[in-house]
Amino acid sequence: MPIRRFKIQKLVSELLDEFEVAEPPVPVRRIARGRGARIFLEDQEGDLSGFLFRRGSEIIIGVNTHQAPVRQRFTIAHELGHLLLHELHELHVDHGFMVRLRSEVSSLGLDEDEMEANRFAAELLMPARLLKEDLEGRELDLTDDETFRSLAKRYGVSAQALAIRLTGLGYLPTVETS
Ligand SMILES: [Zn+2]
Repeated sequence: MPIRRFKIQKLVSELLDEFEVAEPPVPVRRIARGRGARIFLEDQEGDLSGFLFRRGSEIIIGVNTHQAPVRQRFTIAHELGHLLLHELHELHVDHGFMVRLRSEVSSLGLDEDEMEANRFAAELLMPARLLKEDLEGRELDLTDDETFRSLAKRYGVSAQALAIRLTGLGYLPTVETS
């Protein structure tokens, strides 16, 4: 089954409206808290990215602060995606998921829930509407490293995540990353 792209887009769009997000970086912690989640921070070595715990009305999103801040933002967004999209077990743990091109994702054997949560995170952290404001009608040279890095910084995302997102939105030509 293909992932539910339109449902994810609609959900993200509603969140951006509700939380009045007019510019990046998207306040992902505030949004997660607004959806009833407590954020639990822990510094752990290893490839643990985070987790989502749900029991009754108790919702906890765990984040490994050992990872880079941009990764932590992605983790919160990913777990929030699970919270809003999926009926998972009480405890869902994510290890070292990566933002990758879809072909790579499927070759990694990630299941649909993971792909949807990643998709949700990318849409939420790099909203199409904000990127459009930033990029359309401007002469931004996205092949220029500095421009690219400052855009990634503005959104609080990794350069890799931004590259994939911009490619998906048609701002960058499709490239093979290997
Ligand atoms: Zn996950």
